[in-house]
Amino acid sequence: MATITMRQIREGEVPFDGGTAIQDDADRPVFHGNGPDDYVCVVCGNVLAEAMHTVQMTKKVRVRCGRCSTINVAVTEEPEAPAR
Ligand SMILES: [Zn+2]
Repeated sequence: MATITMRQIREGEVPFDGGTAIQDDADRPVFHGNGPDDYVCVVCGNVLAEAMHTVQMTKKVRVRCGRCSTINVAVTEEPEAPAR
């Protein structure tokens, strides 16, 4: 079981699809899976998703922390820079 810190969504980083899950109860993770990793809020360390597989935590999965209201995304790699 590993603990993975999520990443704060950047200002102006517009979600391209999907929705943001709202954690209503700060003591209960929004997602429960059967994978190896827990995902925690980047700001306060609150557990947002429990026992998840990496493949389940795509960029479409966003969670607003019930404790500090930070919107977290799981993917940590930077997206491709758009061509200008
Ligand atoms: Zn938080």
